[in-house]
Amino acid sequence: MAVSEHSAYGPQPVDLDRCIHCGLCLNACPTYRELGLEMDSPRGRIYQMVQVSNGAAITPSYMEHIGLCLACRGCESACPSGVRYGRMVEGARAAIEAKVERGWLAGRARHFLFAHVLPSRAALTAAGTLVYLYEASGAKALLRAAARLKLFGRLGDLAQLAPSAEPPFFFREIGRTFPARGVRRYRVAFLAGCVANVLFARLNEATVRVLQRNGCEVVVPEGQGCCGALHVHAGLREEARKLARRNIDAVTAGEFHVILTNAAGCGSTLKEYGELLAEDPVYAKKAAEFAACMMDITEFLAAIELSRDMGPVDAAVTYQDSCHLAHGQRIRTAPRQLLAMVPGLTFREMPASDICCGSAGVYNIERSEMAMRILAHKMESVNSSGARIVATANPGCILQLQAGVRLHGSGQRVMHVVEILDLAYRNFR
Ligand code: SF4
Ligand code: SF4
Repeated sequence: MAVSEHSAYGPQPVDLDRCIHCGLCLNACPTYRELGLEMDSPRGRIYQMVQVSNGAAITPSYMEHIGLCLACRGCESACPSGVRYGRMVEGARAAIEAKVERGWLAGRARHFLFAHVLPSRAALTAAGTLVYLYEASGAKALLRAAARLKLFGRLGDLAQLAPSAEPPFFFREIGRTFPARGVRRYRVAFLAGCVANVLFARLNEATVRVLQRNGCEVVVPEGQGCCGALHVHAGLREEARKLARRNIDAVTAGEFHVILTNAAGCGSTLKEYGELLAEDPVYAKKAAEFAACMMDITEFLAAIELSRDMGPVDAAVTYQDSCHLAHGQRIRTAPRQLLAMVPGLTFREMPASDICCGSAGVYNIERSEMAMRILAHKMESVNSSGARIVATANPGCILQLQAGVRLHGSGQRVMHVVEILDLAYRNFR
């Protein structure tokens, strides 16, 4: 009898059995929309997972179809049968990760990124400084200009995606407590992310300001770090568990009304810490309490009585649903509700706003060709809305959409919903 190559890591039979092969998820899947291939649809991928679960070998073709999935979970929202596709694909990737032998260089580079860069403030600060110097030296602008002339092929796409570092980095605020403006109504813990501390320092500052405006004492707990979302998506669950324990130790649930993140991709994983550590005898209970206390910033702000001391933001704004907010956390109304509260703002819904923009963690770097195809279609939707600001709720989507504007847009500004609220508060006279 063949032994399943998924065995200890792969998707569980109870999840695989849920798929009734109806195909209702196909049109919600960005890779199926691009390629029209069953094997690159959710149903096709589940079929392949079942084969491997029943003893078929993990082949390069299987790895390719699973690797091309964005883990956007659009299929979960579309599925009438409650298929938990997100955790199935994470399991499939964990099984691949356990089996696959990468080349020495690729393996070392990957290990270095996940084990030594993302979890380390020193490494992220050094990387952020290099990014800043690259931009300040003019090399970035030069490369982008060359990329526009199609001189570098696929590398040119990556040049469009290259982020900007934002010194001073938000790491300097970790460990600080920011008082509420006016009467304190809530005490909240803010998790500032990992890469976001260097690439989205201004967004993190705006988040703190908006919370303070709304009666929150904001604690940025010392000891916090990378949430492990990228590790989970890459199939590195054990490494993700280590990071989860570190964050749980940093934030004692119960001391705060709520724990907040402004990154939908992180929030989705942070809310699943209970599941991630369910088998851990020491952390299982603490992880469940932590997860129960976790909220996305838009979810929280829409749930409280929001200060209306806002000035006008006179612009047409459209909203791109971040996959891990809309599909992972089932939050669609809150960001739109917040935008509707901003005076002067005209909201314009774009078509297919909940189809992935192609960002998907590091997918746009690893799979830039597919990511760019998906982005081109996304920008057709953005452009058709006529909006001048594209709002979203996840830093990764911001970077991808900024690249989209550079390649296919008409100078639209890309902002986090919280940055628009911050702007409205700052416009108040
Ligand atoms: S997670 Fe996204 S890309 Fe992957 S199968 Fe589902 S809809 Fe398609
Ligand atoms: S919608 Fe759900 S049940 Fe139907 S094919 Fe897709 S994953 Fe399977």
